[in-house]
Amino acid sequence: MNLPENVKRLMRQLRESGYTAYAVGGCVRDTLLGRAPKDWDLCTSAQPEEMKRVFAGERVLETGLKHGTLTVLVDHEPYEITTYRVDGPYTDHRHPDSVSFVDRIDGDLARRDFTINAMACGEDGEVLDLFDGQRDLAAGTIRCVGNPEKRFEEDALRMMRALRFASRYDFAIEAETDRAIRKMFPTLEKVAGERLRVELLGMLQGVGAGRMLRAYPEVITFLIPCLKEEIGYDQANPHHLYTLWEHTVRAVEEAPADPVLRMTMLMHDCGKPASRVTDEKGIGHYPGHQTVSARLTEPILEKLHFDRGSADRILKLIEGHDIPLSPERKIMLRRLNQFGEEDLRALFLVHRADRIATGTRSPEHARERARELTEALDALLAEKPCFTVKDLAVNGHDLMEQGYRGPNIGRALTGLLDAVMDGQTENTREALLARLDGKK
Ligand code: ATP
Ligand code: MG
Repeated sequence: MNLPENVKRLMRQLRESGYTAYAVGGCVRDTLLGRAPKDWDLCTSAQPEEMKRVFAGERVLETGLKHGTLTVLVDHEPYEITTYRVDGPYTDHRHPDSVSFVDRIDGDLARRDFTINAMACGEDGEVLDLFDGQRDLAAGTIRCVGNPEKRFEEDALRMMRALRFASRYDFAIEAETDRAIRKMFPTLEKVAGERLRVELLGMLQGVGAGRMLRAYPEVITFLIPCLKEEIGYDQANPHHLYTLWEHTVRAVEEAPADPVLRMTMLMHDCGKPASRVTDEKGIGHYPGHQTVSARLTEPILEKLHFDRGSADRILKLIEGHDIPLSPERKIMLRRLNQFGEEDLRALFLVHRADRIATGTRSPEHARERARELTEALDALLAEKPCFTVKDLAVNGHDLMEQGYRGPNIGRALTGLLDAVMDGQTENTREALLARLDGKK
């Protein structure tokens, strides 16, 4: 295996000071898969203080030093170098009670989660593969290092990591590992929300997202209980060919691999069961389910520690997932005003995914519709149209000069904006001042 020059240089420096060192984990796995690694992590027999001495002349970050990690910056790129460690006992299903530094790599590899993540590569390019990671890479298998139940008992997050890696590489989860996940998933309760979020979003964005959602609904609904009712739920509606869960899974698969969009699709219909009205013909209708979905989603996003910006976008897109859209100028301006450009473009993709996932509408038609909306939006934006109060040719000061006060200022501006978006007036100072309603 070929290592980058910078990595070899760091390893050589450690070797020349009398230590061993390897590239390890994700970078070895990804290189063997023919993918570009996100970053290069090294491990070494040098203790933290010894690493500091070896790299005394370099730009380093010591933030992880007490966990054994020194970051060396080479050509502005960070390289994490970590002392070989073994984990002490785990009692909380999350972290080892203690870690200890050791001078051989074997124990360090044995503590890693999956065989494909437990390979190392020496300075000479030789791969050290104590757990048959290369065999599992070639076969497309996610397999725990050691006894799966024991490994998940130590750190429950590894179960979500298994789903994430299986989704990302389109790998299968090996039978014993799979059995252990199905048995142990309730211990995910112990894991911090933000760690779960990272793995969940990674899983949702992988090529195998749909396969994982179909294979492990009990795991997903353990994390997100409000999705439980979707499993096997008959929508009883001629526009829908699939159960609610299958529709949801397809909607996730149809959306671009983006965290906000995929999370939106996962949650968009969770309010349907609670909103159901069945008419005299036995057809299910779901009035207002968008709002219920958004309301049920909010605490989930909080529990998973989504940042405020992403959470707001997801909630807005869920709320808008059925709103009428049209290339017509008037309606497009309203939507721009409501959603802003970025979210409106995202909304087109949400609608597209949702329609395709019904199983009753032509996917080609849904795609054509999204293209048409995007083109209409592009053309409209090229005109630099007015769609917010800020774009108006008059502002609050102008209205104050006309004698408007307090909340009447905002009300008058909104009225003017409506008139401009509806094409009833030009957006010029004279035209707008002439239109004022006099309700000061
Ligand atoms: P990515 O490309 O997503 O960064 P990665 O394999 O580098 O994948 P990281 O989460 O960055 O994943 O972890 C780096 C390495 O540390 C893993 O390859 C694995 O060997 C080990 N590791 C990470 N998390 C765990 C864990 N919870 N339990 C055991 N080993 C872990
Ligand atoms: Mg990594």
